[in-house]
Amino acid sequence: MTKKLIEIASEIVNVQASGISMSAEEISSALREVFGTLYELQRAESGEMDLVAIQEPEAAPALKPENSIQNDKVICLECGAEMKQLTKLHLVSHGLTAKEYKKKYGFTMGTPLAAKSLTRARSKAAKKRGVPENLKKYMDARRQAKTEVVKPAAEVVKPAAEVVKPAATLPVSETPKISRAKRIKNRFSPRTVE
Ligand SMILES: [Zn+2]
Repeated sequence: MTKKLIEIASEIVNVQASGISMSAEEISSALREVFGTLYELQRAESGEMDLVAIQEPEAAPALKPENSIQNDKVICLECGAEMKQLTKLHLVSHGLTAKEYKKKYGFTMGTPLAAKSLTRARSKAAKKRGVPENLKKYMDARRQAKTEVVKPAAEVVKPAAEVVKPAATLPVSETPKISRAKRIKNRFSPRTVE
C-alpha cells in the first residue's frame, strides 16, 4: 500500500518536474508534499480519517450569521464584504431588502445590521437626546390626559359649591329682618359666653 503511494507520488512529481527545471531540494519537498496528501486521502478512503477533517483547515469555514455582526464591523453574509453598516443599498445589490436578509439568516427583525460599536454609540447618542425627549413628550401627554380627566370633574363640583354658597350667606348679608344689634351680638357671642 505505502509502496504504491510512493510510486504514485513520484509519478506525479516526475510529471511536474518534467516541464520545468527543479532542484533536488524542490523535487524532494514536492515529493513529500504529494506523498503527504496522498497518504491523507488514502486514510480518509479507508475510513481511518474523516475526509472533512482534512479538508476543513484548507477551506475557509462558513461564517455563522451570529458571528457576522462583530464589534468593529459587520460582514455581509452574501458576499463577505466587511463594513460598519450593512446598508439597504448594499443589500439591494444582492436583490435583498434588509427584512429579507434578516429572515434568510435568522436574525430577529430588531437586529441592527451594523458593527456593535456603532450600534452602541448610536444608542448612547439616542439616550443623550432622543429618548429623554420622547419620554418627556410621553409624560407631558400623560399629564395632559390626566388633567383633562380631572378638570371636568372639578368644574362639576364648583358650580354646586357656588349654588350652596349664596344660600349660606343669604341670612347674614341680605335678610333685613335680623337687627343690627342681633348681628353684632351674634358676631361677639362666642366670646361673651364667659
Ligand atoms: Zn454583500
